[in-house]
Amino acid sequence: MRQSFDKDAQKAFSLFILKEMGYDFSAGRLDESVHPFAIGLSPGDVRITTRYLPDDVTSALFGTIHEGGHALYEQNIDPELAGTPLCTGTSMGIHESQSRFWENVIGRSRPFWERYYGELQRRFPGQLDVPVEDFYRAINVVRPSLIRIEADELTYNLHIIIRYEMEKQIFNEGLKAADLPEAWNAKYREYLGVAPDNDAEGVLQDVHWSGGSFGYFPSYSLGNMYAAQIADTMERELNGMWELVGRGELLPIKEWLTERIYRHGKLLEPSEIIERVTGKPLDPDYLVQYLRRKYSDIYRLG
Ligand SMILES: [Zn+2]
Repeated sequence: MRQSFDKDAQKAFSLFILKEMGYDFSAGRLDESVHPFAIGLSPGDVRITTRYLPDDVTSALFGTIHEGGHALYEQNIDPELAGTPLCTGTSMGIHESQSRFWENVIGRSRPFWERYYGELQRRFPGQLDVPVEDFYRAINVVRPSLIRIEADELTYNLHIIIRYEMEKQIFNEGLKAADLPEAWNAKYREYLGVAPDNDAEGVLQDVHWSGGSFGYFPSYSLGNMYAAQIADTMERELNGMWELVGRGELLPIKEWLTERIYRHGKLLEPSEIIERVTGKPLDPDYLVQYLRRKYSDIYRLG
């Protein structure tokens, strides 16, 4: 997994997967930035970025798929809502459910790589000389880490808890900006058993707080919960969902989500969306079950 991977080939593969997901290139583009993001100006112009790491073949790809998930949402809002305040995702949590659904539930699944691993190997001749099952397990390896956006699905929510607890300390207990690095490092040691060498790998790694987006981080964990619950319904309602993924037929998934979520924009509240789509209010058990099933299989826990 740690080799030098050609950047142009990484970019070409990212573009290829975006196309497979149904991202509309006539209404957007993929560029490069230090931290990946999506920005929607209208359904007709939804741009995304990713970042290419020379020694990691999947970092840029999963960044692309994540931002692509945000973009599919914004590109597929009913055009009748364009130009109104209703023409955006209904909440940060539902938005993150879409990005994280595409990135993790689909993009880190076994059927996805049974379809696309050969394509990836072909673009990096001689570099990915392991069976697809080994690759699948490698992209889902669980280990404590410093960087949120590169964290595995299982430890990811611990990165969020750290930020959420610190946000509460900032607003309720007067935690000062100057004291953030030390508080951050202490929490990383406590929750994940790791500590950064510098603040770029620590408290400065995200754009949220410097941009004033306090309260955003919990939406990622909410998104994980929504995504697991929505995936549970999709598995039952969309016939042969995993067979479709295994054949690289991702458009029916995009259409299923467009019909139930994307097209409504802000017309429906988050709670209305989750209840209309799944028949139930948000229930964290779906995420717990999803994680238990996936990682029991990968780590052969019986
Ligand atoms: Zn996101």
